[in-house]
Amino acid sequence: MHKTRRTGRLRAVLAAGFAATLLLGTAAAATAAPPAPAEGQKYVIATDTTFAPFEFRDPSTGDLIGIDMDLMNTIAEQQGFEVEIRSLGFQAALSAVQSGQADGVIAGMSITDERKEIFDFSEPYFESGVQMAVAADDTSISGYEDLAGETVVAKSGSEGLAEAEKLAEKYDFTVKALDQSATMYESVKNRSAVAVFDDYPVLAYGIDQGNGLKVVTEKIPGGEYGFAVAKGQNPELIAAFNDGLAELKADGGYQKILDSYLGAAESGGGASGGNIFQLVGQSWPALSKGLWNTVSITVVSFVIALVLGLIFGFMKISTSRVVRGIASVYVAIFRGTPILVWAFLFYFGLPQLTGAPGNVFLAGVATLSLNAGAYLTEIVRGGIQSVDPGQLEAARSLGLGWGRSMQRVVVPQAVKMSMPSIINQLVITLKDSSLLLTIGFAELLYQAQQIYAANFRTTEMLIIVGVMYFVVITLLTWLANIVDKKVNK
Ligand code: GLN
Repeated sequence: MHKTRRTGRLRAVLAAGFAATLLLGTAAAATAAPPAPAEGQKYVIATDTTFAPFEFRDPSTGDLIGIDMDLMNTIAEQQGFEVEIRSLGFQAALSAVQSGQADGVIAGMSITDERKEIFDFSEPYFESGVQMAVAADDTSISGYEDLAGETVVAKSGSEGLAEAEKLAEKYDFTVKALDQSATMYESVKNRSAVAVFDDYPVLAYGIDQGNGLKVVTEKIPGGEYGFAVAKGQNPELIAAFNDGLAELKADGGYQKILDSYLGAAESGGGASGGNIFQLVGQSWPALSKGLWNTVSITVVSFVIALVLGLIFGFMKISTSRVVRGIASVYVAIFRGTPILVWAFLFYFGLPQLTGAPGNVFLAGVATLSLNAGAYLTEIVRGGIQSVDPGQLEAARSLGLGWGRSMQRVVVPQAVKMSMPSIINQLVITLKDSSLLLTIGFAELLYQAQQIYAANFRTTEMLIIVGVMYFVVITLLTWLANIVDKKVNK
């Protein structure tokens, strides 16, 4: 397989050997822990998208904050290593560590026996467990027995899901797994599910922030949170985390971090107060970042797509069957498969094959440009073919070569005729860029999701980004039409 795996396994073997030596050795064990991370060594740490108060976006800056984030950053600083946080979603974060795409995961992850088979955990840093919550105004559910025939939701790959599934058979209800906390809470509020199973510190925090839920059953105890690495890999990272945690607990830093989030929850509200204009104001830093990402990835992808469209478009009118065939296969593949499949493939699949780390921007550009390129190929082909062949013949009979005739006579007319379709494709590509939120690309809709996951003002946030998309697309279309008139008059 790929390199990281192999070195990982090698490291595991070394670590095991090392441990054995320690066991054979003497009391020196306590000091002769795995070597400390090299000064300035960088680790990729995966986390959930939103699991407030452990990881969530600061609604006013768009920065990832929370107990987990503060712990990780403080410990890294103290122990002299660097971290690059990747906010992927819970299930995806676990997979990233298993596949070697991330070095560790901190995501309010419960230490369980099953997980210990695949992960090595730090010392526990937070006591937690699962609880059920229902809509605040729901009077029909007051215990598990009221769930018969109903649907409940929980997060994919989580202990909440495992607990719900354990109860489902006895109490005869259906469990649906969802990827994000915000979606789970929304499903309960809009009654597509009657209850959510989630960790109680997180539920308590959300309820305090006004997420519109309430708890009606007892906590299901068990499940302390730990920082994790893939089994046998990065032992020095776990050791450094443990050292840092112990230090933070001793010097009060740990308690300070907890207080800064849990204390704030008690005061309630935070950024979630105010009317819609204040909400726009508070979220503007994050939203404008998202808007910038949306526009820049669209522009970069579209320029590449235009080049692809021109190349393959001309290939499609080639006299060579092979050349035509290649272009047709390209178009067929990208028109015949969903964009999301390619986004996942480029972001999760390709790095696994090549061993290179996934890059969300590049994966996004590849996805959008190849997709739009396929449609532009057809637009270019159609444009050229719509020019009366007599014109090419006429140009050539006047002594112009094929290239010249194309350039001077056919292409200008083709461009003019194709322009509306090209602009249309630009708008489609901009809208499609929102799909990239699924691979964690921080575009406009992603930012909105992150914000409403923390402040629970879902409807308003969606209206705000809807208006933003609309304004940008209208401006872009207007601009493109001006260019069109200038160029093609
Ligand atoms: N503590 C739960 C688990 O480990 C949920 C974690 C989360 O949703 N981020 O399964």
